[in-house]
Amino acid sequence: AGLGVSGSSAARALAGRGAHVTVVDGGDGERQRAAAAELTEWAAREAADGSVTVRLGDGATLPEGTGLVVTSPGWKPDSPLFTAAAEAGVDVVGDVEIAWRLRGPDAADWLAVTGTNGKTTTVRMLAAILEAEGLRTTVAGNIGTPIIDLVLDQDTERYDVLAVELSSYQLHWAPSVRAHSGAVLNLAPDHLDWHGSMEAYAADKGRIYEGNTVACVYNVADKATEDLVREADVEEGCRAIGFTLGTPGPSQLGVVDGILVDRAFVENRQKQAQELAEVTDVTPPAPHNIANALAAAALARAYGVRPAAVREGLRAFHPDAHRIQHIADVAGVAYVDDSKATNTHAAEASLASYEHIVWIAGGLAKGATFDELVRGAAGRLRGAVLIGADRALISEALARHAPDVPVVDLDRTDTGAMSAAVREAAALAESGDTVLLAPACASMDMFTNYNKRGDAFADAVRDLSASGR
Ligand code: ADP
Repeated sequence: AGLGVSGSSAARALAGRGAHVTVVDGGDGERQRAAAAELTEWAAREAADGSVTVRLGDGATLPEGTGLVVTSPGWKPDSPLFTAAAEAGVDVVGDVEIAWRLRGPDAADWLAVTGTNGKTTTVRMLAAILEAEGLRTTVAGNIGTPIIDLVLDQDTERYDVLAVELSSYQLHWAPSVRAHSGAVLNLAPDHLDWHGSMEAYAADKGRIYEGNTVACVYNVADKATEDLVREADVEEGCRAIGFTLGTPGPSQLGVVDGILVDRAFVENRQKQAQELAEVTDVTPPAPHNIANALAAAALARAYGVRPAAVREGLRAFHPDAHRIQHIADVAGVAYVDDSKATNTHAAEASLASYEHIVWIAGGLAKGATFDELVRGAAGRLRGAVLIGADRALISEALARHAPDVPVVDLDRTDTGAMSAAVREAAALAESGDTVLLAPACASMDMFTNYNKRGDAFADAVRDLSASGR
């Protein structure tokens, strides 16, 4: 279902193994035709026993004789094609499920991470820790190379363990994946239009724990994640391991006097806790990011990684761009790009990381409300500059909960609006403040994606710096 990157990669993987694949796509534009031509040419050349047929302009009818439907991200679970499949008793699965089913006998173990926010950061930290231990590993899943390609690539046999990021969509369509250990970082409303309800969204996230053998890692501060562990069907002996920013209880990792400590996997029975790393080993050392580091450490420790490798890996880790990325200091003001804060839960974490903030926010709200976010951040705001389609929702929340905070409502959605926003923010900021792009919204009203939005911010900051303000 769907002739995009993941659909094409699934079609090749399956046809290459002798399957007869029909790719259906409701669209029939230039993009689809070009992709169809490329795929059928490939199949004529390479799919020895298999075949690929492409059907454009009808994404709803189940092709005659279908034995398995493979979905693409973006196809909603109630799509007519899937209803037709259910009626015909045909399984519907996603790319992660296919990768799981096709992996070889000596395939790498999976350490899996999901959650509303922090997934990419956590799997990158985890991979850095596993590498520091000398294990052969890479990140996979909702990140990097399509997971089917990664698993089918013969070279993958050289991996000992994969750090796998799984989205709620991928988990929904991956019924038989069994990770060695899994973590749910946090749960906040997001993508509810796709899942239908918070319960359905949580249940899909909870799938990550099914069949875990060593550890189900949950967030002590987020009870919903612990509930999911309780509901999961795991292998005998598999333990629930919590992470907390406070002092850890037994079977937990936490923080004591600025040290990340492990009370879950303590080798020396004389010892109460194992020291892993210092808070300052984590970049940036913001609370939400310490939580990500603890989750990564928990999964690594479940896999038998030594404490010294946890520290070395965390020190080697550097966040991806647009995630609380310090761009420059101009006139004593720090400019920080957290364009990846595309929902209120993420923006809440980054607003909690600074004391005096001029906040640049706005974009597509995706049905979110902003009262709680603004109420929590009000005391830290020096000012706010609003851009994008749904900025009125944020300005109304500011008027309700932070009436004294000066707000510049830019009333613009053109791409040049970002440089105007940065100039307005600079005018509001005082030395020692942070100008923080944490939009709490998706970017597609103004930009192709959050990367482009962050780039526009960084360009504007550089212009500001060059102009000497
Ligand atoms: P994901 O892959 O889940 O989208 P990322 O690691 O890319 O997560 O981080 C996305 C954004 O979410 C970051 O820019 C940051 O603002 C925020 N964030 C990261 N970790 C957390 C966390 N543990 N809790 C809340 N927000 C977080």
